[in-house]
Amino acid sequence: MSTKLFPFKLMLFTSHNPQPTTPQLSDQNPIEYIMAHFLLVTYPAQGHINPSLQFAKRLIHLGAQVTFAITISAHRRMIKSPPPDGLSFVTFSDGYDDGINPMDDAQNHYDQFKCNGSKTLTQLIVSSANQGRPFTCLVYTLLLPWAADVARELHVPSTLLWIQPAMVLDIYYYYFNGFADVIRNDNNDHTSSSIKLPGLPLFTSRDLPSFFLASNTHTSALPILQTHFEALENESNPRVLVNTFDALEPEALKAIEKFNLVAVGPLLPLDKSFGGDVSKDYIEWLNSKPESSVIYVSFGSLAVLMKQQMEEIARGLLGCGRPFLWVIRAKENVEEEKLSCREELEQMGMIVPWCSQVEVLSHPSLGCFVTHCGWNSTLESLVSGVPMVAFPQWSDQVTNAKLIEDIWKTGVRMIVNKDGIVEGAEIKRCLELVVGDGERGEAIRRNAKKWKELAMEAANEGGSSYNNLKSFCG
Ligand code: UDP
Repeated sequence: MSTKLFPFKLMLFTSHNPQPTTPQLSDQNPIEYIMAHFLLVTYPAQGHINPSLQFAKRLIHLGAQVTFAITISAHRRMIKSPPPDGLSFVTFSDGYDDGINPMDDAQNHYDQFKCNGSKTLTQLIVSSANQGRPFTCLVYTLLLPWAADVARELHVPSTLLWIQPAMVLDIYYYYFNGFADVIRNDNNDHTSSSIKLPGLPLFTSRDLPSFFLASNTHTSALPILQTHFEALENESNPRVLVNTFDALEPEALKAIEKFNLVAVGPLLPLDKSFGGDVSKDYIEWLNSKPESSVIYVSFGSLAVLMKQQMEEIARGLLGCGRPFLWVIRAKENVEEEKLSCREELEQMGMIVPWCSQVEVLSHPSLGCFVTHCGWNSTLESLVSGVPMVAFPQWSDQVTNAKLIEDIWKTGVRMIVNKDGIVEGAEIKRCLELVVGDGERGEAIRRNAKKWKELAMEAANEGGSSYNNLKSFCG
């Protein structure tokens, strides 16, 4: 473990105090060594919390201390085991202590989160400095551009931790920097014409984050992302930490000349820290299945599928005839109860409201992952060497599906019919392609194994992401 220290004295004042505030270098001041002390703040969704927590653990492993500011709702979802030495939690209310629903007013949540979060971070930074334990850096994740403002006002260095692929960051960057007309496709959401952006592969609009589509209903997303990029452009040498690794996205990490994108992933979730008291019956069930035989189906922590789509998935799974483990979250239960072929499903597979996904993906009986392509799920599958059937829903997931199918070639993407539904026959076709004996299936499974090795190599001590994070720590 590294015990590297930050050799500068940090002078900290609040914005009400007009005294000099820049960090003073040790050769100009009495030397006071300050241990690297990070303040980490993240959005209260599972897909944001998981990589952030893993990031915190990596920093601690490198000798730093971390304070993790998190909302009450997110903290409640964690299993209450004592945090590792060096990690402490501070909770605050975002006004949604029972959690956020897809139907909630996103703008109202953003405003409340920003208001309460800014106050909490300000108080924390000031009181920690007053107690002689100043924060040496504030790290914030996606959808919290206001955190950079708090840090700037209090003269604390800040860094964005980007929890999606570098390629998605590049696409947004180009959108806000001269390529909006090339990217935006207001008249037709399903065009197949090619979109070329510097340093990136050819796209069609089906590969670009869903926020650009005319049908997008998440109207606050692009303005928030724009604020992120404006905050970065105000920095002299913008550096962004990215949850990816050098070998996975070599071109995308270099595509923006002005930004230094530093790969520190894969930041995998801590499999036993989330999800409440889940039964482990499913692990026993997996134990009873032959090697590489089980299809795992999950759409992450947020997506809610239409009843008709669930019926088609059921049809596809039954048609394929393999054992399956299907996560249907509690909020989708209304739909689940109405599934017409429930009994048949239970004979062939297992349906659970939640599972420890990392544990499931690394089980030897796993043969394929039908995934919504959330970035964490994608990385978790990659690290476990499990081939994927990509069933993206929105946001970056469509771009992640492009990476899976066309760039890494570790899976296939399902084709949606003209009504926006993936039919049972298409699901069966994709599953058979990935798990079957054909040449393409074999190549996909070979690639999945290759990426597993490369991902482990990057994350292990001495690997590219390990070294990148070590340099970031000092
Ligand atoms: N997850 C889990 N159990 C489940 C479903 C999801 O542990 O039954 C975890 C999964 O391992 C991943 C996270 O929840 O780390 C979901 O993040 P992702 O980025 O894949 O998708 P999102 O939920 O943000 O759409």
